[in-house]
Amino acid sequence: MLSRLPPDVQQRLDELLEHLPAGVVVHDKDGRILSANRLASRLLDRSVAALIGTESDPSHWSFVQDDGSPMPESDYPVNQVLRTGKPLSHYVVGLRREGRGIIRWMICNAYPERDPHGTLERVVVCFTDCTALKRAQRKAQKSEERLELVLRGSTDASWDWNLRTGEVYYSERWWDVLGYAPGAMPTEPETAMRLIHPDDEPRVRAFVRQLLAEPRDSYSIEFRMRHQDGHYLPVLSRGYVSRDPDGRPLRMSGTNTDLTERKENEQRIYELAYFDPLTGLSNRRYLMEQLGASLARARRLDEYAALLFIDLDNFKLLNDTLGHDVGDELLKQVAARLRTTLRASDHLSRLGGDEFVVVLEDLGLCPDEAAAETKGVATKILHALGQPFELGPHTASTSPSIGITLFDGAPTDIDTLLKQADLAMYRAKAEGRNTACFFEASMQFAADRQAALESSLRTGLAEQEFVLYCQPQFGRDGLLNGAEALLRWDRGALGMVPPGEFIGLAEASGLIAPLGRHVLEQSCRLLARWRHNPALKGLKLAVNVSVHQMRDPTFPDTVAEVLAHTGAPPHCLTLEITESVFAENLPELIERMYRLRRLGVQFALDDFGTGYSSLAYLRRFPLTALKIDRSFVHDAHTDRSAAAIVEAIVTLARKLDLDIVAEGVELDAQRRFLNTCGCDALQGYLLGQPMPAAQFERRYGHPAGVA
Ligand code: C2E
Ligand code: CA
Ligand code: CA
Repeated sequence: MLSRLPPDVQQRLDELLEHLPAGVVVHDKDGRILSANRLASRLLDRSVAALIGTESDPSHWSFVQDDGSPMPESDYPVNQVLRTGKPLSHYVVGLRREGRGIIRWMICNAYPERDPHGTLERVVVCFTDCTALKRAQRKAQKSEERLELVLRGSTDASWDWNLRTGEVYYSERWWDVLGYAPGAMPTEPETAMRLIHPDDEPRVRAFVRQLLAEPRDSYSIEFRMRHQDGHYLPVLSRGYVSRDPDGRPLRMSGTNTDLTERKENEQRIYELAYFDPLTGLSNRRYLMEQLGASLARARRLDEYAALLFIDLDNFKLLNDTLGHDVGDELLKQVAARLRTTLRASDHLSRLGGDEFVVVLEDLGLCPDEAAAETKGVATKILHALGQPFELGPHTASTSPSIGITLFDGAPTDIDTLLKQADLAMYRAKAEGRNTACFFEASMQFAADRQAALESSLRTGLAEQEFVLYCQPQFGRDGLLNGAEALLRWDRGALGMVPPGEFIGLAEASGLIAPLGRHVLEQSCRLLARWRHNPALKGLKLAVNVSVHQMRDPTFPDTVAEVLAHTGAPPHCLTLEITESVFAENLPELIERMYRLRRLGVQFALDDFGTGYSSLAYLRRFPLTALKIDRSFVHDAHTDRSAAAIVEAIVTLARKLDLDIVAEGVELDAQRRFLNTCGCDALQGYLLGQPMPAAQFERRYGHPAGVA
């Protein structure tokens, strides 16, 4: 068709044309088709032969406009070029094939071909199928329209911003949430922006800018908006950006949700999780997180911080005697006083019970100064909590014991810090309470030693390393009338450990229960055996009982059971208790003692004169003997006041019909004095050392055993 070209070039061009992914139709100057390539024939649904020589052919195909209406024939691409003589580019037409009703969308480019004189000879029209693109565009438009409908009909606080026109729509509810009548302000994007909290506004603007620039569609962001009454409410804005097929944003729409209630719930949940409902202070969980943060901060700044562990000295007693309501009130007031004593930046938590923890940060780089500053805070706390508390009708006094540990950038962990402060707190208690102690490495050594001792105590119990010694007691007539069972820990190569070194630990670790039972069992076995020896028959054996054992409601049953299965005569068993048991719940204790007395068991009050109990107490307990403490015995023969005390105790015991035992008799002068006073029994190194039970039996187990 382009006949001026050499034939071989022409042939190659024709082939190329045939395979071009566009329909190409060449018209003559009257609009009739001269040639069409393969794709053109497919698009027009007519064979090339049938096409040639025709103009447009409405019985087979026609063009429609963008909106689907028929296109006037004069607007057909070929006719436009013929009329204007100018090329036509990117002209979108719909091609309808009659009978099929299908419209394919085409982008048309058409241009005129002229002869050397400039006369229009032909028009070449190229079609490219853009149906898929057109459909996508349609769909986007449809959903956009639908969205607009949804938003405007919605009862949500919704809004819709047409980015092309700049017009914004705010729903009625949108205004309502912010306390305004609909349309109270201009409907423009700035209206919403102006209501955003000034602290949030730059962030929101940046967010919107970025959102529109990014190929991202849905979004959600939280910020605060000003209500008409002036307060700010937390808002969650969610929505999306619709875009044209090229990704250019068309509109941005969404809904705003008022988060006030959710935030309040979140706050409540947070408070429940992290705060102590009684005092309103943060709880253990919060403290752990806080300590982690403080530790990291100290490390980062390489500055000192301090952990103070505060324990009230007599809280348990107060709580038990005045009742839990009063105890709670005390804790509340303690919390309030601590709060006013501390700076706002100090962290205060209640660990539980009567334990409070304070964390001080930013104590500087110098350990001495950090210690001095912490000491100052501790002193203030001691003073604040040392003042009496008004608890309804009661006035109560308490005092704290404070353990302190300092920490800085050195590697450690939260558990270690808490343990250190706890150890220091126990030291403060040991130093007489109402004081503050700093943690020292030696405390850790002591604690480690204790832990090791506790574990060997456990194995020692299992391995039967605990043995009974017996120390004889003699009556006024100088005859043996009993013995005291004294416990020893036989650690083999490590030697014999006296009870003073392990009873306290056994009590603290709970091992006193099995240990006490072991002593009771061994003692009762001895008593049962002695029944069959005329020299030992009827001797009393005094067994030391810890306050922890007396506190146990099942203790009388244990004693009854051991007596029964060993066959020991109950009236030969004396339980030695100390005045410390009287700090317990008295009615229950007395009831327990009476149950034991009914079994036949007797009670001696050990170390008498060293405790605090009033003499009036003595009448309330079913005691059978008093043991004068060896400190009075020690001085009685030389010191007039010690002598007077011994005499007074003996007189008192007579009046109360109690036996008197004097212990720690080391000198003959002491023995003479005690005898003149009228003591019923004497015990001490002068008369007999504590010795293994077997040795005691060998030594005294023959007729007329005397001192
Ligand atoms: P305690 O009940 O006051 O026991 C008397 C202590 O004085 C014993 O010390 C005994 O060896 C010692 N003693 C005896 N005569 C003299 C003397 O003439 N001069 C001096 N200076 N001391 C004398 P021990 O055996 O070391 O016991 C110490 C404490 O350990 C006992 O004091 C008792 O409170 C406790 N204890 C001993 N055995 C047991 C036990 O089986 N259970 C319980 N819970 N505590 C026990
Ligand atoms: Ca004793
Ligand atoms: Ca004693």
